[in-house]
Amino acid sequence: MTDWRKYLRKCDLQAYNEVIRIGRAQTGVVQQNMATLYQKLKLFHGLLTREIAFAGPFAVTVDVTRRCNIRCLGCAIHSPYVTGQAPHDTATQDLDVNMFGRLCRELQTMNTNTLVFCGDGEPLLHPRMFDLIQLAHSAGFRTVLLTNGTLLDEIKVRSLVDSRLDLVRVSLWASSPDEFKRNYPGTSADYFTTIINGLHLLASAKNSQRAASPHVALHLVINRHNFQSIDSFVDLAIEMRCDSVSFSPLHTIFDQIASYGLLRQEENLLGEQLLRAKEKLRSLEVEHNIDETIRRYEAGANVWKKVPCYVGWMTCRMKVDGTIQPCNPCQLPMGNFREQSLGEIWNGPVYRAFREMILAPNSSRVMDERCDCSFCCHFSDNLRVHRFYKWMSPLCRVFGKPKTNSEVS
Ligand code: SF4
Ligand code: SF4
Repeated sequence: MTDWRKYLRKCDLQAYNEVIRIGRAQTGVVQQNMATLYQKLKLFHGLLTREIAFAGPFAVTVDVTRRCNIRCLGCAIHSPYVTGQAPHDTATQDLDVNMFGRLCRELQTMNTNTLVFCGDGEPLLHPRMFDLIQLAHSAGFRTVLLTNGTLLDEIKVRSLVDSRLDLVRVSLWASSPDEFKRNYPGTSADYFTTIINGLHLLASAKNSQRAASPHVALHLVINRHNFQSIDSFVDLAIEMRCDSVSFSPLHTIFDQIASYGLLRQEENLLGEQLLRAKEKLRSLEVEHNIDETIRRYEAGANVWKKVPCYVGWMTCRMKVDGTIQPCNPCQLPMGNFREQSLGEIWNGPVYRAFREMILAPNSSRVMDERCDCSFCCHFSDNLRVHRFYKWMSPLCRVFGKPKTNSEVS
């Protein structure tokens, strides 16, 4: 049996090497929070204060809609197995286009690089999704769309290719109709074929237009029902001519669906499959995020005990109703973009208190009560920053904390 945990220790060394090559441009499947050298310097400057951000968020995730046409097993909003996960103003169903335009204009001034479109629903259900992409492109952002792939018909596929979207990540939790049924309770298994057809259409449209974009990533959320099908999933992605394959552990939503997560023994089996898949993908030169996935499993539920969180300096998420939160699993509201500018929120008292809290020695206890951080999706980003910051943190005592917002500029 492959000792995949030994491999993890090697991954740790690789993570160090990643710090060295932190400025290297990477495609979205591996890393969405790309930052320039200037932004990284500003990030570490802000970390010295422990509360202020001297650069805007590198990437912003924007929720486009609350509506969805399917029911994923692990969806925090639409899963039949999850309750009590609809915070904020649920009356607003779709993102307001004018508000998004205002966000783009402000993010331009904050030098944000990437906009990720997703949702508490399926983004392609937004009646003006392609206008949103167009607005983001006009403002110069790199654009990423996360979709369930069920609406990829000929018209939408053509629009996607024409839109110059940089990356589309199609989330498919199954590699067969039978697996689909178990991962999408109450959803017709016919959607499996619909998604496969959509991926075919996308590959053909790119081919016929000789278009390099969008980069197509096929994404699997790993759980009890599908962890033994990694090989089939990779084969499916190759057959669909996807540019990359990505994986993530199931988010158990405050343990509500913990029974669908993997046991330790199953994680070992998964590790072996992932290493095999990595070899295959390497030989075919298909991109993947397997090292990162393994690292997330290693971090597991106790992510705070491994690496502190620095997300408050790197990224944020805007919900459909304008609520700004630090990341998706952490639903602490930092402010509302309907009422304040992002700049005011980004360095306002709530965000500053949040940053102080996540760097405090007792942060894990405090955060455990408020955010569902298990299998954190920003673990690799946090690890990269931590490799530097752990040496810098004693300097905080020397520099002290600025006292007012006027020191931020
Ligand atoms: S596609 Fe997305 S929004 Fe819809 S049920 Fe699945 S996870 Fe939830
Ligand atoms: S999930 Fe938790 S640890 Fe991860 S980025 Fe969000 S707040 Fe930080």
